[in-house]
Amino acid sequence: MAKKVLIVYAHQSSSSFNAAAKNIAVEVLTAQGCTVEVSDLYAMGFKATATAEDIKGDLKDAENFSYLEESKLAWEQGRLSDDITKEQSKLTEADLVIFQFPMYWFGVPGILKGWFDRVLTNGFDFSQDEPYCLETLKDKKAMLSFTTGSPESMFCTIGINGDINVTLWPLQNGILHYCGFQVLPPEVFWAPALTAAADRKKMLARWRTRLQDLLEEEPLSFTPLDWFDKETFQLKPEHISEEFGLSVGIHLSNPLPSQS
Ligand SMILES: Cc1cc2nc3c(=O)[nH]c(=O)nc-3n(C[C@H](O)[C@H](O)[C@H](O)COP(=O)(O)OP(=O)(O)OC[C@H]3O[C@@H](n4cnc5c(N)ncnc54)[C@H](O)[C@@H]3O)c2cc1C
Repeated sequence: MAKKVLIVYAHQSSSSFNAAAKNIAVEVLTAQGCTVEVSDLYAMGFKATATAEDIKGDLKDAENFSYLEESKLAWEQGRLSDDITKEQSKLTEADLVIFQFPMYWFGVPGILKGWFDRVLTNGFDFSQDEPYCLETLKDKKAMLSFTTGSPESMFCTIGINGDINVTLWPLQNGILHYCGFQVLPPEVFWAPALTAAADRKKMLARWRTRLQDLLEEEPLSFTPLDWFDKETFQLKPEHISEEFGLSVGIHLSNPLPSQS
């Protein structure tokens, strides 16, 4: 059956490198027979702040407003704002979600953070009571595809920015894995603005090649949930590895620095 792909795209300019990466993904995946939908967040004027306006009708407790509680209730009762509901429908349909963005402050642009805050609703795709366990998204793949301002040499274990896997841990583990996605390895376009035009073309050509088999790729592996104690959510003693130290995998299977 034809696969459905959602690209959540966060760049202001249609002549940017991010736009080029997004356009190639649309082109290659469509040519494979996929149905590709793009949520172009800036073009949509997507609201980035999680507020009471996201909920239709009366609030349960307007005086002590809790976004976590009120949005969960509104989701259960079909009272979330139309823009959130629309994005959730796209997510429900998708087999693969690609987040395409420029790195901002070691993370995502605010408009994309707003998409995570508002669309990934408590109860819909994550549960506080059962972290990492909700099954709504378990058959879906998701990945980060992004550009940086810094070259790769700054984002390694001896680089001034540290290991890129650590930078990506809040996104790949704290959002995507937490919500139950299978997380594909990221596509990192290192510092396109500092790169010669010919090498930028090579980066996009590599992306084009990767896209051919993207849907068949193996996801990253995270520590199995049954390795954690059910009360403390800490690694069981038998799974604390001598090689990697007291690690739940933040370095994605690379040894922690010895002085850590
Ligand atoms: C608020 C803020 C915070 C930031 N924080 C960080 C941070 O924490 N870490 C970090 O590393 N960086 C950071 N940056 C830098 C940011 O990540 C980069 O500016 C961004 O990733 C560059 O991507 P772009 O798409 O905007 O590139 P662009 O500037 O649009 O493009 C780069 C080059 O590619 C060219 N290009 C466009 N299309 C094509 C094409 N089809 N083929 C070939 N070349 C093409 C462009 O003409 C340009 O020369 C930050 C920037 C901002 C504004």
